[in-house]
Amino acid sequence: MTRKRILTGDRPTGPLHLGHYVGSLQNRVRLQDEYETYLLIADVQALTDNFEHPEKLEANIFEVALDYLAVGLDPEKVQFVVQSMVPELTELTIYFMNLVTVATLERNPTLKEEIKQKNFTKGLPVGFYTYPISQAADITIFKAHLVPVGEDQLPMIEQSREIVRRFNRLYDRVLVEPKALLGGVARLPGTDGGGKMSKSIGNCIYLGDSSETVRKRVMSMYTDPTRIRPTDPGHVEGNPVFTYHDVFNPDKAEVEELKDRYRKGAVGDVEVKERLFKALDEFLTPIRERRIEFASKPEWVKEIIVEGTRKGRAIAQDTMAEVRTAMKISYKL
Ligand code: ATP
Ligand code: MG
Repeated sequence: MTRKRILTGDRPTGPLHLGHYVGSLQNRVRLQDEYETYLLIADVQALTDNFEHPEKLEANIFEVALDYLAVGLDPEKVQFVVQSMVPELTELTIYFMNLVTVATLERNPTLKEEIKQKNFTKGLPVGFYTYPISQAADITIFKAHLVPVGEDQLPMIEQSREIVRRFNRLYDRVLVEPKALLGGVARLPGTDGGGKMSKSIGNCIYLGDSSETVRKRVMSMYTDPTRIRPTDPGHVEGNPVFTYHDVFNPDKAEVEELKDRYRKGAVGDVEVKERLFKALDEFLTPIRERRIEFASKPEWVKEIIVEGTRKGRAIAQDTMAEVRTAMKISYKL
């Protein structure tokens, strides 16, 4: 292995949004020359809470790949890998299941939060409950050193590290203990003011949204509920409009001035949002334009996915041969 590896990914439950950008995509773009990078389009994981609508996955795999290209991930350097097309991942997941206790899963804070949020009315699927284990297989089959993720994924990386330690101690030193790399913003709130922008909550501004859509989403954003009139002193902290200003508006003097006037009750929400829209639209326009261009070349995008998956699978097969040998189940039958 010459360069160290990155593995991270996204669930193809929809196109990618601003949260993905600041939480993970930005780091991936920054590190794509330095690290050998594999990006997993995690359709098997998406099925764990979308198994009743598998027909959406194929189109969303394509959407995620378009977002990767649009933000500047270079397919010459970065491999896009479709999870279900690497069946070795399933095998490793099964072996890992023996190394994790139910109690450990029970304690996983992200899992707990997501189970509550997703409100599985027909009962909690075992597949969903065990996704941290399959995610550990995703990361370790690629022997990744670094995993650029948002804050919600930290417990998953911790779980992966524990599995690697157990595996290497019990069998042989085959696997690499991965480290998480948090984004510039570890958890971007949603437009509804909720704790996390998330595809399944629907509180997102997507990287491919048109100018009109971005404007609409910004104008309907949650602000300070205690403020009735523009002359009321407002709260800046915990106000997602200002959080987004801090992240996406490069004109820091303007942001400080708006905050100051907002606190004093000397500016209306509409003006603050107009300025945010302008900043966001400037940020998103080049991404949107590239996205439209790549969307007109579906055959080329498909080839990138097929080729990336082929390369990714070859790595997975090599690791699995080592795993089976270490586990003494590489039978000469
Ligand atoms: P879903 O609702 O289907 O789970 P999601 O919006 O949470 O979708 P994922 O595909 O689960 O997106 O996450 C992909 C990566 O993006 C993960 O590393 C995750 O931590 C990061 N990420 C997602 N949302 C945010 C956010 N709001 N802020 C920072 N990082 C985020
Ligand atoms: Mg998620």
